[in-house]
Amino acid sequence: MLKTVLLGPAYTAPESNHVTYLADALIEIDQDGKITAVLTPDEPGYQEHLREAKEAGLLHELIPGQVIVPGFVDLHIHAPQWPQAGHALDKPLADWLNDDTFPLEAKYEDLEYAQTIYHDLVHTLLANGTTTALFFGTIHTEANLVLARECMDQGLRSAIGRVAMDNPDQTPAYYRDESSQEAVAETERFIQALEFLGQGEPLAPLPVITPRFVPSCSDGTLAGLGRLAKKYDLPVQSHVSESNWEHQYAIDRFGLHDAEVLDKFGLLTAKTVLAHGTQLTDHDANLLRERGVAIAHCPISNAYFGNGVLPVNQLLKNGNQLGLGSDISGGYSPSLYDNIRHAVALSQVRTDGVANDDQGKPDSRISVQTAFYLATKGGAQALNLPVGAVEAGCQADLQILTDPHPWPKESPLDRFERLMYQATRAVVTAVMVNGDLVYQVRD
Ligand SMILES: [Zn+2]
Repeated sequence: MLKTVLLGPAYTAPESNHVTYLADALIEIDQDGKITAVLTPDEPGYQEHLREAKEAGLLHELIPGQVIVPGFVDLHIHAPQWPQAGHALDKPLADWLNDDTFPLEAKYEDLEYAQTIYHDLVHTLLANGTTTALFFGTIHTEANLVLARECMDQGLRSAIGRVAMDNPDQTPAYYRDESSQEAVAETERFIQALEFLGQGEPLAPLPVITPRFVPSCSDGTLAGLGRLAKKYDLPVQSHVSESNWEHQYAIDRFGLHDAEVLDKFGLLTAKTVLAHGTQLTDHDANLLRERGVAIAHCPISNAYFGNGVLPVNQLLKNGNQLGLGSDISGGYSPSLYDNIRHAVALSQVRTDGVANDDQGKPDSRISVQTAFYLATKGGAQALNLPVGAVEAGCQADLQILTDPHPWPKESPLDRFERLMYQATRAVVTAVMVNGDLVYQVRD
């Protein structure tokens, strides 16, 4: 039984270096929000399916200038940092955390504050075409549940982590778990509470085990969270080798690289997503690939805090899984369009180098098609979710864009590229999750 049928041009990225254009695609969506068929006019049965959809009153035909693209998967976002997106980005990472970020996150003990911010954040993400988000919350279980409720109410697909952080050397007394026992027990309580809250809900958020990063956590916490990852078979998220400081910290404390520390504690699994990785060595990258770990590339944030540019092209060729993250608020923008553009721009900087004594790294350039893949199918695969593509078998998490400049005589792929470079929130006209309209521009 079909719920709705869309008719219009669509773009989707089946693989990392390739975008497919589907002219006049007929996209059939069933009652569960799954895409059951994507037909183009050259395929048998197209006219028959079109007629049936019309007769059943299910056809939604796009107007000229509109196109369909998959909803974006934001693979790394700190929900509580939304109020400071675009604040203090000129500070070094450690100062930014201690002076600005930890005091802000501590405010979420106040659930009314959490409600106000999270309501706005979820709406803003949908309005920018993001249909799935992998969130870091705060240490406050109840506030994280407020975020979960907002995602379900507004129709954003989500995975949410209760942040664990207890190392007194690296976290302030006013905002940390009192002990490793508390960090682990509270994480387990959050997992159970979120599973209870989402019972029977089609968009039940997935709980994610979330050691903030190695410096924030004691050995006991890292070990306990590793045990929880195994016990519940849940996703894990953290940061890895984000900056020179973080990379060196793990070496000083453990004599190991950041990725090896997470592995030692059982935190690298096929369901792990690690943000940044700008300082990963080849050995680290191979370890992540062997474990099936995905990397969330956060290009805007990396420009401010990463001390380097992720070698996206090399990692893809190495077989590593990659997606794209806004990293609010290390990144200032809630838009993955902005991050797509920065991913391409930074890859150019990496290729060409920044000074005469640094001639760059050849073969680092990526195309906008690759960056779009990271924002869609790459992120979906990182989370093992059937989304991120206009393909039969995927859930219908889609954006409808209205091109303000539908130039005549422009090829479909030229149009795609121009849209990716110029799209703002204003072109995102409607957003679907599970085939349901969850955001629409009002005339
Ligand atoms: Zn982060």
